[in-house]
Amino acid sequence: MNSKRRTRLWRQADSMMKMMACALTMTFCLAALSMAQAQSDWDEPFPPHRIADQIYYVGSKGLSTYLIATKEGHILINSSFERTLPLIRASVEKLGFKFTDVKILLASHAHNDHVEGHARLKELTGAQVFVMQGDDGVISTGGEGQYLYTMKWKPCKVDRVLKDGDKVSLGGVTLTAHLTPGHTRGCTTWTLRAKDAGKTNNVVIIGSPNVNPGYQMANNVDYPEIASDFARTFQTLKSLPCDIFLGAHGNYYRMEAKYEKLKSGAAGNPFVDPQGYRVYIADREKFYLETLNRQKKKRGTGYSRNSEHPGRQFAGFGVPPSGGRKRQ
Ligand SMILES: [Zn+2]
Repeated sequence: MNSKRRTRLWRQADSMMKMMACALTMTFCLAALSMAQAQSDWDEPFPPHRIADQIYYVGSKGLSTYLIATKEGHILINSSFERTLPLIRASVEKLGFKFTDVKILLASHAHNDHVEGHARLKELTGAQVFVMQGDDGVISTGGEGQYLYTMKWKPCKVDRVLKDGDKVSLGGVTLTAHLTPGHTRGCTTWTLRAKDAGKTNNVVIIGSPNVNPGYQMANNVDYPEIASDFARTFQTLKSLPCDIFLGAHGNYYRMEAKYEKLKSGAAGNPFVDPQGYRVYIADREKFYLETLNRQKKKRGTGYSRNSEHPGRQFAGFGVPPSGGRKRQ
């Protein structure tokens, strides 16, 4: 090989290396962007609004918190992160209620994006904390005993451990706790009835029907009954009468689009969406069954293509799919 040809080959190799480096940089940038988007969604304020009767949305754009206001004080579902509390407080006060009037604090499920702020909120308001059996230990220890995830947060005293079908009442409002496990062992779907425009609506606040990245549906050593728990959850969710469809994250029920409709003053309550509820449950069940069947065949790592927590592993919300089989 003459020296000219060697130089040309070297230059080609060099430009290939530069292109590869550029592609790698772009991949990292995209990953960082996805993390930033997920984070900004969670930390972005959202206008508080009335859903029906005395039920209000007081969460951030990406993390749902619901206020049920009564004459005897308030019930709050989900504290989100500790850093979300000022935002929730501002929303409660903007609606004309007192944050310190929160008497009962509930949760959708014991993942830190919904319950990390529990201990601080209890300190600030003196609220009683009620948690479904299965998630109670995770909340009282601040993150111990979670399936797959390892992050820790401030432990919070649990004042009452709930069982499937238990009722929580305050100021004439009664919520029913439905155990909908799988996403977490004590994942809870809340139902209540709410009047709006002369009609009584069945309200369903879904805990989570989602199979997250890294979740292992077959041969799961850490959570052996996970697949049958999800199956039970879909059975329960399909059996619940639903007019007003809500959930732990606004994207379950297209919260932003419905809020826009509410703001536009269009006729009817945009949150009344029984069809949307059925479509969402069917879609999530299909994804669960696909994941289960694929993993049964492959005995793979359980990596799934979509979930409610995009970019979660980048944001310190767990372990990458390769480490998903065992809790670390
Ligand atoms: Zn979750």
